[in-house]
Amino acid sequence: MSSETFGYRIASTMSADVIVCGGGVAGAMAAVAAARAGASVVLVERYGFLGGNATAGAVAQFNSWQTANGRRVVAGLADEVVMRLGRYGGAGEHASFVMSTGHKMDRVEYAPEVLKLVLDDMVHEAGVRPLLHASVLDVGVSDRGIDGVHVLTKSGVVALRAQVLIDASGDMDALQRAGATFLELDEGEALQPATMMFRFGPIDFARFDALPKAEVAALARRGYDEGRLARAALHSSRDPFSNDGWFNISRLGIDATDAMALGAAEIEGRRQAWSAAQYLRQCVPGCETGQLRAFGTQVGVRETRRIVGDHILTSEELLRPEQFPDAIAAGAYPIDIHPAAGGELRYEGLGDDHAYQIPYRSLIPVGFDNALVVGRGVSATHSAHAAIRVMTISMAVGQAAGTAAAMAAQSNQQGKVRAVPMPALRERLLRDGAKLA
Ligand SMILES: Cc1cc2nc3c(=O)[nH]c(=O)nc-3n(C[C@H](O)[C@H](O)[C@H](O)COP(=O)(O)OP(=O)(O)OC[C@H]3O[C@@H](n4cnc5c(N)ncnc54)[C@H](O)[C@@H]3O)c2cc1C
Repeated sequence: MSSETFGYRIASTMSADVIVCGGGVAGAMAAVAAARAGASVVLVERYGFLGGNATAGAVAQFNSWQTANGRRVVAGLADEVVMRLGRYGGAGEHASFVMSTGHKMDRVEYAPEVLKLVLDDMVHEAGVRPLLHASVLDVGVSDRGIDGVHVLTKSGVVALRAQVLIDASGDMDALQRAGATFLELDEGEALQPATMMFRFGPIDFARFDALPKAEVAALARRGYDEGRLARAALHSSRDPFSNDGWFNISRLGIDATDAMALGAAEIEGRRQAWSAAQYLRQCVPGCETGQLRAFGTQVGVRETRRIVGDHILTSEELLRPEQFPDAIAAGAYPIDIHPAAGGELRYEGLGDDHAYQIPYRSLIPVGFDNALVVGRGVSATHSAHAAIRVMTISMAVGQAAGTAAAMAAQSNQQGKVRAVPMPALRERLLRDGAKLA
């Protein structure tokens, strides 16, 4: 084949005030917030459903809504998601939870399939136009502006135009195509591993939950030492509709932006999950009659590209905690680094009333006037990202970015995101129920 046989024509065009690329929890919240703030929005998602890691990755628990002493630091649209999950019967209550490291936090366990419905509802009611089964193909840039995004769909290539682009693809595929700059890992750091979640059941939770911590740790260590568990943990969330659990105990040290490595990890992840399920059944009290019922649709990906933003958030700033004049979200999840290999976690807890802030400048990629990032790609060091990556904070940041994008699109500033007035943005977020500290 010669290269002249390639090339594509545009099948159709769409325009909006705001394009959101990626429909994970961060992108879905950004799209809903932008639409509720009056913008027209197209939400591009490569799968036929929304949620990303939260649904396709089957993560199944929203962690850390509050500080250890019970001060709420995440609310707003994230709260609405939980309320709507509850209406379908698809979520448990906010419950306190002790990590294998002994740290206390709170979480909401939910059914990933129901979250798909909730995100459909929210996007639909807000008037967002979801473009599903659509993958980012290319991004047009002139000078410092994103001109448009081409996406590959079943109908061919669709050309999208908007004033503001929000990259919510987790892997920052849109900004990568636009030529953005990304942070490098420091010496001694590695990308956090991916995990193939799997559903296992039935479980006799009365016995499983009553296992003493020391026994759980010993069982996990034994499974790991025998090569049957890839991670020395029995970490899981309970499905609200059944006696099944979603287990987070596989470990795949890859760069998930490498296509071949990602595919290989899907295969190895299923192998690890199968091995772990046999170990649960044979060795763990309460799991004797369980079966592996389902894999995640894809491996869950913790970390890939992080942009270089106007402000690079550091773990020192989280631990101080730095008070930012442009804070647009807050969080209380500890620094939680899963090493790429081995069974352990590197975990740095926070004080009882400790919460930190995320500044708006960390959502703005250097070199672009009309782009924002949300979720896993926010500008943060490897260790700061290890705290702010969770879904609660991703939803809060998504709400902030969507609101800001709508303001930028409506301000006669041609979508310039640095022109958004901070007091007005923060006031609007507070009015909409968000927490900023
Ligand atoms: C195994 C695991 C366990 C975790 N445990 C917890 C936990 O217990 N509690 C918690 O709160 N958080 C947890 N997290 C973290 C959390 O799930 C993620 O950090 C969070 O979901 C990130 O959301 P996001 O929207 O930024 O990215 P993603 O969820 O990755 O969403 C990105 C979206 O973009 C789409 N997309 C990607 N590329 C393209 C493209 N080129 N074109 C179109 N669409 C595209 C994807 O399909 C996806 O829908 C865990 C993560 C993992 C992987």
